[in-house]
Amino acid sequence: MTATGRLVDGFGRIHTDLRISVTDRCNLRCTYCMPLEAIFKPREELLAFEEIARVAAVAAGLGVRSIRLTGGEPLLRRDLPELVRQLRRVDGIEELSLTTNGLLLAEQAADLRHAGLARLNVSLDALRADVFERIARRQGLDRVLAGLAAARQAGFEAIRINAVSIRGLTEEEIVPLAAFCRREGFHLRFIEFMPLDAEASWSAAQVLSGAEVRRILERDVGPLLPERQIDPGQPAVDYRWADGAGRVGFIDPVTSPFCDRCDRLRLTADGQFRNCLFSTTEWDVRAVLRGGGGDDEVATLLADCVAAKRAAHGIDTPGFERPARAMFQIGG
Ligand code: SAM
Ligand code: SF4
Repeated sequence: MTATGRLVDGFGRIHTDLRISVTDRCNLRCTYCMPLEAIFKPREELLAFEEIARVAAVAAGLGVRSIRLTGGEPLLRRDLPELVRQLRRVDGIEELSLTTNGLLLAEQAADLRHAGLARLNVSLDALRADVFERIARRQGLDRVLAGLAAARQAGFEAIRINAVSIRGLTEEEIVPLAAFCRREGFHLRFIEFMPLDAEASWSAAQVLSGAEVRRILERDVGPLLPERQIDPGQPAVDYRWADGAGRVGFIDPVTSPFCDRCDRLRLTADGQFRNCLFSTTEWDVRAVLRGGGGDDEVATLLADCVAAKRAAHGIDTPGFERPARAMFQIGG
């Protein structure tokens, strides 16, 4: 933390974005994220909405401006719109968004919108039901598509679709996904497969790079033109279709790490601060909150977490150590 009270790490990176996981539970079992048989945190270990809102207020006081709710599957957390309402009341938070697999969106989109949620990211890797089910190990494609329609109906604009690319699994889905998003007006983003799967089966050979996906798109759909990067902190590199029909982006944490401009912090559902997806250390804010600690102690813990941030995740280095938690336990 600097004298100005902002969250600056040892490399000068200012942290303004907080990812909050609200549950580790999920209604899918994506191979790149969860094990087939998962053990979840007991309910009492999860932060209550009031605890999350308190942490958010302290973080906002230290310069955090954007909050994204995630999980596990955040729509499984009962009465999520109430949390959205509480976070909307936090001074300083300018952007509130949510990442979901979309299965429960048809039921909840309108309530979330009314509660004040501004933006939605929906994860969808495949448009063929058999490929969807091979990845997610559960059914649900129809519900995701219905959820997307409901979200639009509820007034969400600029909906993003996140698609993880995995070699030998998703190549055939790239062009149909692009065509679907161009037709429906969704902003598609391809994400490289990171070593955060619960079954630890990740290998570099399975990483279908953003550059490869882009080549497929340019070959089979049409030319792409680079977009000017407006937010330097955003990890995605965006392109627009030369024919004017929308945009497509690439998040390439493995082949083009963006650690040097990372502005993100994370709060797990069980109340641990993390300074990186690949962090091997955590800062226990739940203990501070439940031990009667004041906001100044929460602020100090967050500043300590930021101060300890490493220069880079190091996936590509020989000493790379996977975190003990998998993606569903961190919050993507
Ligand atoms: N359940 C919600 C969903 O799927 O959107 C939110 C949580 S999920 C962990 C957040 C994002 O992380 C999703 O877009 C998912 O595809 C992505 N993700 C999960 N595991 C990943 C991995 N190993 N590599 C890259 N992205 C991953
Ligand atoms: Fe669930 Fe999202 Fe992980 Fe898939 S990526 S298992 S939907 S938390």
